[in-house]
This record gives sequence, structure tokens and C-alpha cells, in this order.
Amino acid sequence: MPDYNKPLPVVEKWNEPYWQAAKRHEFVAQQCTACGYIHLPPGPACTNCLSPDQDWVQLSGKGTIYSYGIYHQQWHPGFADDIPYNVALIDLDEGLQIMSQVVECENDALGCGLPVEVTFDDVTPEITLPKFRLVGTKQA
Ligand SMILES: [Zn+2]
Repeated sequence: MPDYNKPLPVVEKWNEPYWQAAKRHEFVAQQCTACGYIHLPPGPACTNCLSPDQDWVQLSGKGTIYSYGIYHQQWHPGFADDIPYNVALIDLDEGLQIMSQVVECENDALGCGLPVEVTFDDVTPEITLPKFRLVGTKQA
């Protein structure tokens, strides 16, 4: 972990509860108390109705792969040893999407619509990244 050399999220007042929850291996999002819309990334207002009244809710961590790409180009030196790696857009069961990575499988096991569940990658003592793994499918 001390050698982690990939970009890390900047923790600030709006997203701090998200990253604190991830560190506890809990997956949360903001929910608007005015209209009920659940959204990420966290911010000062609802992205649906602009209400500033936001709460935090636990997510199921379950979803499906909406789309994904396999990266063969080194865009950042920290990813050199990971090429080819995937970046996936996940449809969460609560109706929102998150950009992440599907881990614990070969890239050719990925497919749009496959079910996934959240898993947590403790990349530094301070930061844990929510990632996803395939559920109920044969893994390579
Ligand atoms: Zn709202």
C-alpha cells in the first residue's frame, strides 16, 4: 500500500461522508430529502431538483454493467502494470450510475448487463475505493 502511485480522490466537505463510509466498507450515496432522488457524486444540492436538503443512504451495492472499456494505453504511469485494465459504468439497483472497475476477473469475462456487487479496495490507510466484482457468472 505505501507504493500506491495512482491518482487518489480529493476528500472535501461534500464527499467526506462518502469516503469515510467506503473506509468502513459501506457504500452510500446522497439522497435528496425534498424529492427522494439518490445521486453521486456528492455535492451541495440535489442534481434533480436543486434542493440543498441532502441526507446519506446506504446502497445495496448491487447492480449491472451498463458499459465498459478495456484500456490498452498508459494514460498515467501508475497504471502501467495494469494494462490492459477495465473501466466500467455500473447501473446500480437504486437507479444511479457509478464509474468504477470490475475486479477479480479477466477482462474477457465482462459483458454489458452482467450482475455485479460492490467490493472495497483499501488502496491507502486513508482511502478505500469502491470497486465491483461479477456475481453469479463463471469467472475466468
Ligand atoms: Zn431533489
